[in-house]
Parts: sequence; C-alpha cells; structure tokens
Amino acid sequence: MVLRFYNTMSREKEDFKPIDDDLVRIYSCGQTIYDDLHIGNARAYANWDILNRYLSWKGFDVFHVLNVTDVGHLTDDADQGEDKVEKRAKERGIEPRELVTQQLKRFYDELDKLNIKRHNVNPRATGHIHEMIEAVKDILDNGYAYERNGSVYFDVEKFHEDHGYAKMSGMDLEELQENASGQLGEEERKEKKSPLDFALWINASPEHLMKWESPWSNGYPGWHLECSVMSTKYLGEHFDIHTGGVDHIFPHHPNERAQNYAMNNLDEEPVNYWLHSEFITVNGEKMSKSEGNFVTVRDVLEEYVGEVLRMFYSSSHYRSQVDYSEEAIKNAESRLEKLYNTLWNLENAEGGDEDSLEDEIREVRQQFEEAMDDDLDSPRALDALMRFAKKANKSLDNRKELLEEVKETIQELGRVLGLSLELKEQEGNLSDELLDLLVSLRDKLREEGEYEEADRIRDSLKEEGIQLEDTDDGTVWKRS
Ligand code: AMP
Ligand code: ZN
Repeated sequence: MVLRFYNTMSREKEDFKPIDDDLVRIYSCGQTIYDDLHIGNARAYANWDILNRYLSWKGFDVFHVLNVTDVGHLTDDADQGEDKVEKRAKERGIEPRELVTQQLKRFYDELDKLNIKRHNVNPRATGHIHEMIEAVKDILDNGYAYERNGSVYFDVEKFHEDHGYAKMSGMDLEELQENASGQLGEEERKEKKSPLDFALWINASPEHLMKWESPWSNGYPGWHLECSVMSTKYLGEHFDIHTGGVDHIFPHHPNERAQNYAMNNLDEEPVNYWLHSEFITVNGEKMSKSEGNFVTVRDVLEEYVGEVLRMFYSSSHYRSQVDYSEEAIKNAESRLEKLYNTLWNLENAEGGDEDSLEDEIREVRQQFEEAMDDDLDSPRALDALMRFAKKANKSLDNRKELLEEVKETIQELGRVLGLSLELKEQEGNLSDELLDLLVSLRDKLREEGEYEEADRIRDSLKEEGIQLEDTDDGTVWKRS
C-alpha cells in the first residue's frame, strides 16, 4: 500500500516519499494567540495530529513543529490595521505579553483535553525577532526586497520571474494583482511597487507597543516572515510537509514559500507536500470570530469530553467542509458510546470456542490502512472500525484471546484517529448482575417509600458512570 497526499501545489494526489528514509519533518501554521480556540481552529490541529499519529503508526519518526504567533498578525491581510494581540490586550487593559501568557495556558490545556499530541517544538514569533531581522537582510542582499520609509517589502514580481509566485493559489498573477489592488490603503499604495508586495518589516507608529530596533526602523516583523524563519531553523531549508488551513493557500503560504526561496537562495522547492484543511461551517457559512457564529472548544468541553469532539472531527475528511450542529456532536457521542460499549463487552465477556473474528481483524487493519493511505481518509477508516466493532459485539462467543486481540485492535486503530479509548477502572468493577441487583433493590426501596436510600443508590451509580432511567417497564441501567 502506498501513502498518498493531495498536494495543493500540484492539485493531485502524490505518492509520499520522505526526504530521509525514516524521519518526516512537518511544519503546521499555528494559532495567533489572542483569544480562545473555536472548534474550527481546533479542527485543523486535530487533523494534523492524525497526520502525525498515522505517520508514526506507519513506522516513521516524526518531527512536528507548530508555531505560535504572538506578534505581527494584523487585523487586515494587506499589511494594515492593528496587531491582533495588541488590540485585544488594550481592550482588556493588560500588556500584550500578559494576554499571550494567559491565552497560551488555555491553548495548551485545550490541546491536551483534545488529546492532541504535544508538538516537538512550539516556537514563538517574539522569540525569533533577531533571526527575522537577519532573514530580512538576506532577502534584501539577494535582491528580492526593497525598503521604503523604514519598512521593507518583498518584491513579488521579481520573485515571480525567477520561481513562479502564483502557482499554489491556482490563479494567475494578473488576477491576484487585480484583487490585491482593491484592498490597498493609501499608505501601502504609495510605498509598494506592486499591490502583491508584502511587508517583511514594518515601521511602527508611535502608539504601537511591540517594536524592536532594526537597521530600517524601530518596528516589527510582517506576519508571514516568522513561519519561513522558524521552519528553516527547526526543519532545515528543505522539509517534507507543510500544513495549514485553506485560507493559507493565498496569501500566507505563497508568501512563505517566496521568503524561503529568497532568504536561503534556494534552487529547489523548500517544501515537498503542501496540505490544507477545510473549514467548519455553521449553516453553510464559515465559522469565524468576525462573523460571531463560532463555538469555542471551551463551550463544547463544558458539556462533552474532548474525545467526542475528536470523534466529530474524524468523521469528516480533512479536505471537506463540515457543518457544525448540536446533532452532529450528538451523533459523534453516540458512535463513541458504541465503541466503549464494545470494548467493555469484549473485556468482560467469558468467550467461547469460535474464531470467526480472526479474519475480521486482518480485514479491518487492511481497510483502515487503505483508507488512511488514501490522503488520510479518516471517515472511511472510522466506518471500517465501527463495522468491525459491531461484528465483534455480536461475536462474543469467540475465544477469549481473540476477544482481547479485537479489543486491542479497536484501541490501537482508534488512537491513530486521536481517540483515547481508555476503559475506566470503575466501569469494569460492576458486573451486569450486580447492577441488576442494585436496581431491583432501589425499586424495592422506592416501593417502601425509602426515597432517600433509593436516591443514594442512584447517585453512587452515577458516579460510577451508570445512568438509571425510569421507563414504563421499570428502571433500566445504562453505562455512560
Ligand atoms: P485564525 O485564528 O483565524 O488565524 O485561524 C487559525 C487557524 O484556524 C488557521 O489555520 C485557520 O485556517 C484555521 N481556521 C480558522 N477558521 C476556521 C474554520 N471555521 N474551520 C476550520 N479551520 C479554521
Ligand atoms: Zn505560517
């Protein structure tokens, strides 16, 4: 089986060949740290976590970098507007760095709750200002940039002649220029030679808080620069996979690529595979902070465990849009419940002498790998896993060793998709028979008017993860 990725650069699925035989180097564009994650942001990080986990499962070593933007990301893409971090810090009446410290803590906490593996490095833009200044000098020396009034701009037309600027966007240069031209403010129109030129260094206005001395001005780096500098620093001039959201297909990634070429004087592509993850929508519209139609990870975690969100994410392909709704989350929760119920049954069944599951194990592994090899088709892989679990649940008369192997297979494959599938100790402690007994005892107590005692049984069962439901046919218990 051959692993293939859809490469935005070629607009085709390509066989994956790492630069080094067993090590895969990945750079993922990360979060601008000024607000809580919404579930759209987290979807991208969950998708790249699956990429990381799948490559590891296939036997590769993975070195994964996700950057943290804490300076230079402006409210407007055309190098105008306020720094997003500064703006929010001012609104809250705190220092920008204080805001970043607070938000970063929440960011990592949420990544952990979503079982997103910690990256090898999370470099921060403000920790690399010196290297960024050096990179701007190199780009100027190599003839791909020019200075205007203390700001430095990348010369896109010059670069385009040498290496083709527009390729990733799938549009031609004139089209891009025309679109960009409409977005330019007066200042930029005066300073930029061409509307597509973008800032490498920006001369700071007096009220700007985060600024540094440089040969050109007391200023700050353009947003795109950090990724070129930090990817080169941690992964080298030529690395395997670069990921981001579809919004990065233009202009962020073409700009990064252009800077990588220019600062390192490359004569080959800096990145072999560019992968882009689609948006989460709400009623068909992109979920975004500016539209106000967003749901934060924090909101969802108030009601559901992070694993439910991971199930929701895996249920759609990373290159498809997916609409968020309460119903979609409930579906994910019920799929997860099915997996847990199966795991519990497998662990607690006595087993028999059948061995029908032996072939099923082989088959699900093959289906799972085929699906994931095909550009990380997680929904197809998950469907195979769910079908397998369903069959297993109906085949508890298989040999006990096989049931154990089935359980481990479900856990192993599910974990590639970022699920934890950890059976809690206490869930295994109460057998079905004991639960039946406790329920009938509670019914009896209620008949006798001993409501307090009956409630005590209900509450302690709840703590053990057992829900009681009063139905027309009497009380039934359910593992949650
Ligand atoms: P932002 O905070 O808008 O810069 O977004 C940070 C990351 O989240 C980027 O990689 C975006 O591509 C991604 N992103 C933003 N909005 C969504 C969305 N609605 N669905 C999926 N990913 C998103
Ligand atoms: Zn980036």
